[in-house]
Amino acid sequence: MKQLIDPFGRKIEYLRISVTDRCDLRCSYCMSEDVEFLPRQDILSFEEILRLAKSFAQLGVSKIRITGGEPLMRKKLPELIASIKAIEGIKEVVITTNGTLLTQYAKPLYEAGLSRLNISLDTLIPERFQQLTRRDRLQAVLDGIAEAKKYPFDSIKLNAVVMKGMNDDEIIALTDYAIDNDIDITFIEEMPLGEVGYDRSVTFLSSADIKAVIEEKYPLKASSYKTGGPAVYSSIEDQKTRIGFISPHSNNFCSDCNRVRITAVGRLLLCLGNENSQDLRTIMRAGCSDEKLTQHLISALQLKPEKHDFNLAEEVQILRFMSHTGG
Ligand code: SAM
Ligand code: SF4
Repeated sequence: MKQLIDPFGRKIEYLRISVTDRCDLRCSYCMSEDVEFLPRQDILSFEEILRLAKSFAQLGVSKIRITGGEPLMRKKLPELIASIKAIEGIKEVVITTNGTLLTQYAKPLYEAGLSRLNISLDTLIPERFQQLTRRDRLQAVLDGIAEAKKYPFDSIKLNAVVMKGMNDDEIIALTDYAIDNDIDITFIEEMPLGEVGYDRSVTFLSSADIKAVIEEKYPLKASSYKTGGPAVYSSIEDQKTRIGFISPHSNNFCSDCNRVRITAVGRLLLCLGNENSQDLRTIMRAGCSDEKLTQHLISALQLKPEKHDFNLAEEVQILRFMSHTGG
């Protein structure tokens, strides 16, 4: 079988697909309040997404993450997930969601064959949730987590972006919440994606700082647990909950990068922190054959840079928001 291997010898086995740029929240670090969404005809259709997923599977991709925007805003998402899961070679389909619609979708997602859920949750304080996301939806997320826990997914994990002066006083509360719910939690350093109206170098908190706060209550032990993503895990004695850290600034994880992304408009992004990309939608809509499409994927991989270069001291370097990229 042909394999996707980049110029630095890294094998690509993990594809993240953004199925929409739309979202029911407006997290301040991710989008502006008056964000303009893309015209619907620009967004990949289910057929186009499936065609790409098949081509990638034929080149050795075995894990697909569905993301956005808010992926559950896309109508009939469980049907798409079931179709992706049925592709030969795809072992895992997972999702990153803000959780607001899980009371409605946890069951159909489980029945569609979804293996794992990452649910974003940065605060447990309703007023702060409203401030951070510009929407009053904390209870919907908490209800969504409770609903998801009713189904035997392989894992449910929380993702929390920690920002100094905004939610860093909730590191322990979020950890306690994960422990009480028997689920894992990953703390993420904020990335400089898109202009958000505040100075990210002021809000930046490193994974080491976050870890130090947790260790005041829970001594952590390094863990060899891996999910195929960039998180590095620690365990807490006598607890099932694992604590992950994603450290794009303080611990560059590019050397073992095994993933690429497809944006909602079908741009193949080779790296989160870099603009190198290939417009797959135009290629597909021009009537390209499956064989040619595969060739395009193989040659696009030659554009994958060795590493990202986030630098908080400089002006915003990556103009696209995470919601456009598919986080
Ligand atoms: N809407 C879904 C959600 O919030 O989980 C999926 C898409 S969202 C863009 C994916 C993840 O990216 C979320 O966990 C979010 O917190 C994270 N994210 C967005 N902007 C970010 C930034 N500038 N730095 C770090 N993480 C960011
Ligand atoms: Fe929406 Fe997720 Fe971005 Fe928040 S982080 S605005 S939930 S896409």
